[in-house]
Amino acid sequence: MNLSSPKSRNVVYPSGLSPDELAALLSDEPLYRVKQAFSWFSKGIASFGAMTNIPQPLRERLSAHFDGHMRSSGVENKLIDEDGSLKLQIRLRDGAAVECVLLEDIEGRKTACLSSQAGCPMGCVFCKTGTLGFLRNLGPDEIVEQFHYLRDMRGFISNVVFMGMGEPLLNLDNVRKAIAILSNPHGIGMSMRKITISTSGIVPGILDIAKDGPIVRLAVSLTSANPELRTCLMPVNRTWPLDKLKAALLEYQKITNDRITLEVVLIGNVNAREKDAQELADWIHPLKTQVNLIAWNPIPGMPFETPSAKQVRQFSEILEQRGIVTVQRMSRGRGVMGACGQLGDTLKAKQ
Ligand code: SF4
Repeated sequence: MNLSSPKSRNVVYPSGLSPDELAALLSDEPLYRVKQAFSWFSKGIASFGAMTNIPQPLRERLSAHFDGHMRSSGVENKLIDEDGSLKLQIRLRDGAAVECVLLEDIEGRKTACLSSQAGCPMGCVFCKTGTLGFLRNLGPDEIVEQFHYLRDMRGFISNVVFMGMGEPLLNLDNVRKAIAILSNPHGIGMSMRKITISTSGIVPGILDIAKDGPIVRLAVSLTSANPELRTCLMPVNRTWPLDKLKAALLEYQKITNDRITLEVVLIGNVNAREKDAQELADWIHPLKTQVNLIAWNPIPGMPFETPSAKQVRQFSEILEQRGIVTVQRMSRGRGVMGACGQLGDTLKAKQ
């Protein structure tokens, strides 16, 4: 057994270990023991003592290796919205904090919205997380643990979206590891088709996942197809402008043949006008997409306004008249600042 003290290195806690990494850790144990341990860790058990089919001496050695801690993080606060959405504030081992949300739709589908970074370097001006700055990438354990906490409280989760705090394509190695763990059939077994990576438009990351996977659903936060306006709203447009983004999406679609979701956060009197809709429709052709329209969720101190339901409907109608599949997304979790763009608003610094 290849166990050394986690105190001496930056250990990955059990939830973030792949079967191969676990096999390396338990190198003198038979393969079936590795599978048993992976299966327990995938269940999100709270203690090593719960691994009832693992011999006691091995449980003790595993516990000692991880300093007795099954998880690297802890839930610090739990907020429940009137609409049933659950937001968790999670304290990481170094004192950093992130949030994750469980959203339940009217059909009862439960979607875990996970964070991939503490803070975010992208600085989208309409997003609370973007104002926090960037602290660090999350490890695979810290990502998968968010799933476990939400599942502990709400049971079976049908979908996962990387739309929480952070830009997942800037932490692609760890997001890949987390997705491999979440989708492993010997563990949680979530279908890749139920997992969505949402990016602000990191072109090299889009090309990377097109080539090397994972082939999950791809969503792109577009917000505007006008170059100047998009640069104002999303500074990523300076580095990866709309023409380069579109070329990457066409390449992605050529390789995967998958429909791409374009997320458009509509801000009243900014990007919700008829000409914005027409410009968006022009830009989309010939991509195969679904456009999700999200009315901007209010964030105290930001100089924006939520568009009226009529404005959103008119925007949607223009896209539909142009043959574009369009969905008006209901905002859920607003009451606990857990809706799109609001994460981080209620985080408190560690006392
Ligand atoms: S919208 Fe996403 S990418 Fe942009 S600042 Fe917020 S978390 Fe970061």
